[in-house]
Amino acid sequence: MTTLPTTELFGLDNLPYGIASKPGHAPHVVARLGDQAIDLAGLATDAGGDAWVDAWSQSTLNSFAAQGRPSWRAARAWLRDTLRDESRADIVRARLHPLGELTMHLPIAVADYVDFYASEHHATNAGMIFRPDGTALTPNWKHLPIGYHGRSGTVVVSGTDIVRPCGQRKTPADAAPTFGPSIRLDFEAELGFVVGGDTAIGTRVRVDDAADHLFGVGLFNDWSARDIQGWEYVPLGPFLGKSFASSLAAWVTPMEALSTAKFDAPQQDPQPLPYLRGDDLFGLDIAIEVELNGTVVSRPPYSTMYWSPTQMLAHLTVNGASLRTGDLFASGTVSGAQPDQRGSLLELAWSGQEPLQLPGGSTRSFLQDGDVVTLRATAPGTDGGRIGLGEVTGRILPARSN
Ligand code: MN
Repeated sequence: MTTLPTTELFGLDNLPYGIASKPGHAPHVVARLGDQAIDLAGLATDAGGDAWVDAWSQSTLNSFAAQGRPSWRAARAWLRDTLRDESRADIVRARLHPLGELTMHLPIAVADYVDFYASEHHATNAGMIFRPDGTALTPNWKHLPIGYHGRSGTVVVSGTDIVRPCGQRKTPADAAPTFGPSIRLDFEAELGFVVGGDTAIGTRVRVDDAADHLFGVGLFNDWSARDIQGWEYVPLGPFLGKSFASSLAAWVTPMEALSTAKFDAPQQDPQPLPYLRGDDLFGLDIAIEVELNGTVVSRPPYSTMYWSPTQMLAHLTVNGASLRTGDLFASGTVSGAQPDQRGSLLELAWSGQEPLQLPGGSTRSFLQDGDVVTLRATAPGTDGGRIGLGEVTGRILPARSN
């Protein structure tokens, strides 16, 4: 393997998928190897991957994700074998392109998008901030993975600028709501799960079958306007405070690449209802970093999440709601127990009461125009090292008056 470009975090045990294009050419499916991308349809054509040529010629990952888990596994095994095969090294090299020459696109056509709330630490912190006079965790929190339906059409790929949203906001001190640019704009460090394989309406996906629909993961930033959210969210949940934009990484890491990062989830107390039980309950040992203008301000550990992704998917379908390939469900803000593990500015600066100190003496309670937020993450790889998740980054632009 010395003849191929690998780096520690994006080697043969990783191989995330994305959608890339060169100027004048249509976007198509690629896999990342080090700081290069492999044109997969081209490689499959040249090296016996006929089963995937059509799906990998598409401008989204949806066709490939629709093929199901046996095909995902076979494709990954074929790709790894091909990349390791010295006799095909010239064929591989001809299909490699430096990432710097490529434009990355949104990896999936997002069907439905749901955001969960699966971190007990985040839910507790948010509850204390939003409802200081009540119980932090709502009575339902340990009985079901709470979620809301977001807006799939405004999920954007990493690197897309985020325009500060306008809306109605009202603080408890205000007599009436006002309209204008959000003054409490925030990020949420999350993991997004990409669903593959449709199901029929009226059927459900059980916990132990959910992994058949888990194609892969990407880092996800659920940008949130706390002032808009705080005024609008009772009683139907988040709406315009979230739907202006959500950012997804350009690279989708296959679940198989995370097999070493999986661990058996601890027993939940209270035990949830039978439809949320099963053998395939797992956590993921993924270490996230939140970078604000180049400074790491938080390290949220995904391993602290309460609900397993398989429980989230089982809950999402228990009423008979169908799945569609390209559905995206996000974990909710990942926050650990420690103050420097909180996955949002709301928590890090405790709703503005304890502004975050940045190098050079500046502080942040919420995001300012020009701020750049980048999420990165690593996880144990299958070869004993670590693998990287593709970053998700975005810059805040000033609100528009039109
Ligand atoms: Mn969220």
